[in-house]
Amino acid sequence: MKPRILVVGSSNTDMIARVPRIPRPGETILGGEFFTAAGGKGANQAVAAARAGGDVTFIARVGKDMFGERALTGFSRDGIKVKFIKRDSYKPSGVALIFVSDSGENSIAVAPGANARLSPADVKRARTEFMRADVLLTQLETPLPTVIAAVKLAARNRVLTILNPAPAQKLPDDLLEHVDILTPNESEAELLTGIKVAGEASGVRAASRLRARGVRTVIITLGAKGALVVNQDGYMRVPGFKVKPVDTTAAGDVFNGALAVALAKGFELRAAVRFANAAAAISVTRMGAQPSAPTRLEIERLLARHA
Ligand code: ADP
Repeated sequence: MKPRILVVGSSNTDMIARVPRIPRPGETILGGEFFTAAGGKGANQAVAAARAGGDVTFIARVGKDMFGERALTGFSRDGIKVKFIKRDSYKPSGVALIFVSDSGENSIAVAPGANARLSPADVKRARTEFMRADVLLTQLETPLPTVIAAVKLAARNRVLTILNPAPAQKLPDDLLEHVDILTPNESEAELLTGIKVAGEASGVRAASRLRARGVRTVIITLGAKGALVVNQDGYMRVPGFKVKPVDTTAAGDVFNGALAVALAKGFELRAAVRFANAAAAISVTRMGAQPSAPTRLEIERLLARHA
């Protein structure tokens, strides 16, 4: 039986331009390809979780437009349950405008559209799903009251809660105390705590501060260096896999989707983070958000090569 993952979050269409380097304000840069791909943190994580072996239900809003249509088709192709994705009559589907530089860096602006109207009522409508889920996975690209409603409903049903605090914003303790696993990257950890995070020592300090506010386990992703795990047992760094980066867009999303599946399957924390590192490492070798998410077999093959 596949583990049941509930994802509450955003769906966007990414409009991606490859550029020699990220343009500065006021600057125009010439050259590079353009293409579109399905994106949005919620959708990326839902797709990553489905490909990694999860039975995924996605709670989201898209517009009544072509972009929304295409997103739904894509989800169904990945076996994601779309029953709780609402077509919004008033707002268009979300879009993200993305630059990807030749060195693999990115810069992103999001027009949220229908994502901004995902509501606590949308979450409550799916309450029976919360009774059956193994893991809830959510992010901050949809309104905070919706995120809070989802995390609380999951906690009440003893569903493991993972909050990927991206894009970063200040969070109330009332939310953090219901979060089992918080997964910021270094800059998000800094924004949440005011502690500049660069590597292990500062990461542990930032994570401890978040734990003091009620989060049980903090996993700070460290890019190529892997991830730092901090909980009541202490801390450990789980190293990343060496790959040649092509596009790091959605590395964090793939990490979170794969992490949710591994934990729902009952993996130990270290093994779950290693599985997530492997999935994310594969994704950075490929262009695009959802297109870059690997399958369970691809992840297992990489893990086996490094066993
Ligand atoms: P985000 O994509 O949210 O900024 P990170 O840059 O920390 O987050 O990346 C998330 C995860 O993706 C890392 O923990 C790691 O597993 C993987 N990853 C990111 N960049 C690389 C890389 N260059 N090589 C290998 N793995 C990477």
